[in-house]
Amino acid sequence: MPVTLSVAVEAPRHASLGSLLDYTSEQPLAPGTLLRVPLGRRNVPGLVWDAGAGNMPLGAELRPVSAVLDALPPLPADWRGLIDFAAAYYQRSVGELALAVLPPELRKMDNVRLLRRVARLMKAPPAIDPTPNLAAKPAAPTLNDEQHAALAAIASADKPILLHGVTGSGKTEVYLHAAATALQRGQQALVLVPEINLTPQLEARFAERFPGHVMVSLHSGLTPAQRLRHWLLAHLGLADLVLGTRLAVFAPLPRLGLIVVDEEHDPSFKQQEGARYSARDLAVWRARQRSVPVVLGSATPSLESWQRALEGKYQRVPLAQRIGGGAMPRVRLLDMAQLPKQEGVERVLAPPLLAAIEERIARGEQSLLLLNRRGYAPVLHCSACGWKSGCPHCSAWRVFHKSDRTLRCHHCGLSERVPRACPDCGNLDIAPIGRGTEKLQEQLSALLPAARIGRIDADSTRGVGLLQQQLAAVHAGDVDVLVGTQMVAKGHDFRRVTLVAAVNPDSALFSSDFRAPERLFALLMQAAGRAGRDAEQAARSEMWVQTWNARHPIYAALRAHDYESFAAAQLAERHAAGLPPFAALALVRADARTAEAATGFLQAASTLAQAYEGVTAYRPVPPFVAKVADVERMQMLVESPSRSVLQRMLADWLPALQGLRAQHKGLIRWAVDVDPLAI
Ligand code: ADP
Ligand code: ZN
Ligand code: ZN
Repeated sequence: MPVTLSVAVEAPRHASLGSLLDYTSEQPLAPGTLLRVPLGRRNVPGLVWDAGAGNMPLGAELRPVSAVLDALPPLPADWRGLIDFAAAYYQRSVGELALAVLPPELRKMDNVRLLRRVARLMKAPPAIDPTPNLAAKPAAPTLNDEQHAALAAIASADKPILLHGVTGSGKTEVYLHAAATALQRGQQALVLVPEINLTPQLEARFAERFPGHVMVSLHSGLTPAQRLRHWLLAHLGLADLVLGTRLAVFAPLPRLGLIVVDEEHDPSFKQQEGARYSARDLAVWRARQRSVPVVLGSATPSLESWQRALEGKYQRVPLAQRIGGGAMPRVRLLDMAQLPKQEGVERVLAPPLLAAIEERIARGEQSLLLLNRRGYAPVLHCSACGWKSGCPHCSAWRVFHKSDRTLRCHHCGLSERVPRACPDCGNLDIAPIGRGTEKLQEQLSALLPAARIGRIDADSTRGVGLLQQQLAAVHAGDVDVLVGTQMVAKGHDFRRVTLVAAVNPDSALFSSDFRAPERLFALLMQAAGRAGRDAEQAARSEMWVQTWNARHPIYAALRAHDYESFAAAQLAERHAAGLPPFAALALVRADARTAEAATGFLQAASTLAQAYEGVTAYRPVPPFVAKVADVERMQMLVESPSRSVLQRMLADWLPALQGLRAQHKGLIRWAVDVDPLAI
């Protein structure tokens, strides 16, 4: 007698079908079993979710499942619980999310190959070589009092731990010890980092500390085969340590004993497409679900986490001192408005900063210059007719890249050779305005002809292994001055850097995004942390900031390395304005052929939203770059002082928006972002 199964398949929430569909099976199958099922004319992967009670495919008879992949142990109930929660919270379908977070390679496997793969891993899990180079292996340092206190807090935690410590205060050492405790108990530790490609050093530190254990990484830089293998090791309970980026929060971990979220404030923990989940927030949920400790570490915690700590929902654990007693670098503000004017000369770096860099070079130390804009110049301009290098498909300028003489749109990717003359009036004198990393590098080479000037940004690291190569050159001391975007501010342990300079950070002060100051402060603090990692050099390490707004409170807080007063001021502003963390937000985005169509859809949605009490829908507005690749974009904020009120409203309101679609010709797609990070 065939049984009915409710199966999660990949169908977006607002498609006409739900994502749990009923199928029949000759034998009963455990929930979490991987299947292949017919959907229309296709055969798609699915997961048994329940014993029946899904939606009948419209008007059709129940169809039998096509294949059962029971070589894969069923995804356990706690994993399905995580997916159920995340799908509901971020307003996606269960099937879409469940299948999106499985390794893509699983789709290609048949049961026989899968069985072979699993058997091979079970027989010989790949442990870290226990004796690579014993002599070189440093012993674990003796923890200081603050670190001991942190570990004690983790051991007895009944709420998430917010580990607040500047770079070099020994946070990673705390993670290592906490992981060691979990491993000793026979448990698995999950460590989430913002960008694993930038932090091979962290992987090396864990590998060095845990010989004989199995460690895997999970991130999008892996080949499909590696990703499957690593995921299987986690799911089978064979991996002791899982190090990964945001997607690793969905790893099934049968022996989970600890979760660490390093740099918890980092925006890259938020997925920016599909199900726009926050891996940090899901990590907290997951830890509570599994009754395991979770450690959120940062020098500049997100204001959400900080506020929760103030409310006693998280436990704040400080690491106030840098290891070895090294001071944080001295912050020097260069008030550009006070500098004497130099007629006709575009000022690259203020003379005192240039002198400080030259001093570093003379001493054999390194300097790091941060400029958050890649390319040579953000725009080309014709002085005769006013033409500018706009992108024909986007509301953005095309950036001048001098190295390959192209004009490139960073939004739609359009790339063309730089015209010889102005395309509008034929004037030969078209000139770049403003400055990106390429130009800064060129200008520095001219100013410091004897120095070796390196550059690390998305362009310089496009090829396989290029980033590692360039980082190695910096570590080896083959670079005197490194120019880079925020890529270089994160996590690297540069031992010879004693000067960090933010060349032009001001633009973030005037952003319409209320989180811009928070992000700028975190970036500058993090950049400052790159200087004086070596305690011996800490005393003469400096962070320079070139600014036209030297009186801005953000810089005063930076100068004092005073996160707490910065946070207090920001929280007061947010409270007064009714913004997160004092309110819950969702952002509805609409993409359409015309701005009118996008606006029309959102306005209709807004009208429907009026029916809900306790929720405010704001006016539709264009995002910072409104048109991308000929698609017009608009967005609308929905806000409520209560997260649960907003959640209930969204669950009721969003399905109705799907019904509006038909009335808005020209609408291409719409999507919701719950707890949006960039506004
Ligand atoms: P963070 O993660 O906060 O930047 P780390 O854990 O990386 O700090 O520590 C900075 C440096 O100090 C590392 O080289 C680490 O090995 C060392 N270190 C950490 N804790 C101690 C300690 N208790 N005693 C001696 N050295 C330590
Ligand atoms: Zn012209
Ligand atoms: Zn474009």
